[in-house]
Amino acid sequence: MAPQTTMSPPVHLSPPADAPRPAPGCDVCAALVEQRREAYRRGDRSAVSDCNVEIAAHRGRDRC
Ligand SMILES: [Zn+2]
Repeated sequence: MAPQTTMSPPVHLSPPADAPRPAPGCDVCAALVEQRREAYRRGDRSAVSDCNVEIAAHRGRDRC
């Protein structure tokens, strides 16, 4: 991992309150939430948004 010397994104440890929540006990949701957390940490808003869409779609489509 390369040291980061440039400006780092603001640290937000948790996503916004309106983000979709994972279904308890669903491995897919848990994996998506993990991805979203990582995306959040690196300041990748578009990846965060993708994960939110996927979580919402997974819950709606498969009902976990
Ligand atoms: Zn799920």
